[in-house]
Amino acid sequence: MEMVEKRLGNLMERTFIMLKPDAVKNGHIGNILAHIQKEGFKIKGLKMLTLSNHDAKQFYKVHSARPFYNDLCSYMASGPIVAAVLERDNAVLHWRDVIGATDPKEAKEGTIRKLYAESKEANAVHGSDSVDNADFEISFFFKNYELV
Ligand code: UDP
Ligand code: MG
Repeated sequence: MEMVEKRLGNLMERTFIMLKPDAVKNGHIGNILAHIQKEGFKIKGLKMLTLSNHDAKQFYKVHSARPFYNDLCSYMASGPIVAAVLERDNAVLHWRDVIGATDPKEAKEGTIRKLYAESKEANAVHGSDSVDNADFEISFFFKNYELV
């Protein structure tokens, strides 16, 4: 029994997500948190804050060579966001499925971006794209004592 629990425990994974300024401004926090819980994620960390432009640039530095970088960073600093750490099996990929394509016009029916996003930039939510990036992004926003 202990062995089984250990193995199941090892399947658990964490991902980092944000509800972006459009989702907060448009009143979607409650619906998106409900969607998260319906999908079987446990919320391990949760906070609301407004990023400075400098912090947004640090967070998105992997995209610094992309044409949308400056606009994206200004946008992400334009209003309050909700940052969260979610846990379940296969959390990183599962969350990417739940949110849908980057551009809401291409996102499948029922995905969070299809339901709530405004545009390709103001696309309601962020999700880490790998376990390694999730570790970096979680530690960017949360101290260990802020995770339950
Ligand atoms: N983005 C944008 N224009 C683009 C591509 C991306 O404004 O052509 C923004 C969008 O907010 C996206 C973020 O930059 O969520 C990061 O881009 P990425 O390609 O990593 O998309 P994601 O992983 O969020 O689907
Ligand atoms: Mg990405």
